[in-house]
Amino acid sequence: MRIVVKVGTSTLAHPTGLLNIRRVEALCKVLSDIKNAGHEVILVSSGAIGMGVGKLSLKERPTDVPTKQAAAAVGQCELMYTYDKLFTEHNHTVAQVLLTGSDVEDDTRRAHFHNTMTRLLELGALPVVNENDTVGTDEIVIGDNDTLSAIVAVTVHADLLVLLTDIDGLYTADPRVDAEARLIPVVETLTAEIDALAGGRGSALSTGGMVTKLRAAHITTEAGIDMVIANGAAPQHLYQIMDGERVGTLFLGRKRT
Ligand code: GLU
Repeated sequence: MRIVVKVGTSTLAHPTGLLNIRRVEALCKVLSDIKNAGHEVILVSSGAIGMGVGKLSLKERPTDVPTKQAAAAVGQCELMYTYDKLFTEHNHTVAQVLLTGSDVEDDTRRAHFHNTMTRLLELGALPVVNENDTVGTDEIVIGDNDTLSAIVAVTVHADLLVLLTDIDGLYTADPRVDAEARLIPVVETLTAEIDALAGGRGSALSTGGMVTKLRAAHITTEAGIDMVIANGAAPQHLYQIMDGERVGTLFLGRKRT
């Protein structure tokens, strides 16, 4: 199987903004093992800006564009240093791939991206993808890594996209405020009712980024690719997901007729 796994900053870092070492070590170990079992793995990782904030000892996450872009430039190095070190422990080679919106909107550039990713996978490397935040401007920005990971999954014809986040999956209501909220195990069709779970009543859910996750689900399922939202607190869940067990919320890719 060819899988794309996306991790958000909330999975990679403590609330202090510093690296959650135990979590990231567990993630790299599980992904290495999945690769050892013969699968192809692509990691889409956030955390550049967050790591840059920590590394530069900034008091808070910057709001102005130049400082954000500067923090991303610093943090992306720290991120890749961490992945390089941890994956090397398991004899895997990482490759850094940074994209902007214009790279995936332009057919020729997207084709080059596809070809490079295919070659990297043939060479046995583990591509680590992020948006190129340092040069991203309003006009060319993809803006969030849920959408980016869906675009990556479609471009490389992945079999599965897994979004690891700080919530177990998609709920019928916001589980943080509604005790009746139930996890939805499978979404067969993305209806307006499902979309409303992220944007409407459960607006607090969108702080966990459900809006962009459902957008990612639209992009992947439309292309016939399954997508899972699962809790990144336990990267071992990836084993169960690969075995087809029900973890989190599975969005079924549209069957081609
Ligand atoms: N590209 C951003 C970063 O690495 C994260 C974007 C996102 O989390 O959606 O900091």
